[in-house]
Amino acid sequence: MKQLMLLLINMLLLCSCSNDKSTKSSTNQTVAKVEIEEGIEPDSMCNTPQCVIYLQPYADFSTHEVELLLPDLQRQFDGLLYGYWEFKVLPVIPLPEDAYIKNLNRYRATVILNHEKKQLKGNEMVIGLTHKDICMDIHGKKNYGIIGCSFKSSRVCVVSNKRLKNKDDYWKPILHEFIHAFYKAGHCPEDNDSCIMQDGKGKGDFTNKNILCSSCKH
Ligand SMILES: [Zn+2]
Ligand SMILES: [Zn+2]
Repeated sequence: MKQLMLLLINMLLLCSCSNDKSTKSSTNQTVAKVEIEEGIEPDSMCNTPQCVIYLQPYADFSTHEVELLLPDLQRQFDGLLYGYWEFKVLPVIPLPEDAYIKNLNRYRATVILNHEKKQLKGNEMVIGLTHKDICMDIHGKKNYGIIGCSFKSSRVCVVSNKRLKNKDDYWKPILHEFIHAFYKAGHCPEDNDSCIMQDGKGKGDFTNKNILCSSCKH
């Protein structure tokens, strides 16, 4: 019996899904122990999040710009989120005409997302990238200009850098919308000024948001 216990502990330690985040690691191991007692093979314990993320550039957002953005995105996703993230770049397409509001020169984000939804085939994700102004009905205002929008019901989002104060921060609202869409997560419950998941409240300033706080870490 003692030998069997030692063997099970070794199996736990060998499981490749262990991660370096102590809180998650201990949670995983607690779950894993219960599963072993129920006779489930150790391989089925590995539940590493992973996703193929399609980057969809729109209109005047060039493929070259996506290629410049890509290393930054990959590094930040790999550094801040536990999991395997594979980015793929889609060919540039126009923004959907039915999203356009001529008198405001803005595109309705929810219409863009409905188009993106049609592109999804499996468990992948689509992130739209645009320089154009996007909007939605929010904060009690119609067609309010925003930086990013995502559907929690499906893995789609769109992020514009038009209203972003510092253009080098573009990866931050992308990560923010990804977390909404992929994990179905809300805004930072700690309302932490440094947390990328803090509610932007219409401001385009991500300059001092550089971390995911302990409540928003995945
Ligand atoms: Zn947070
Ligand atoms: Zn948000």
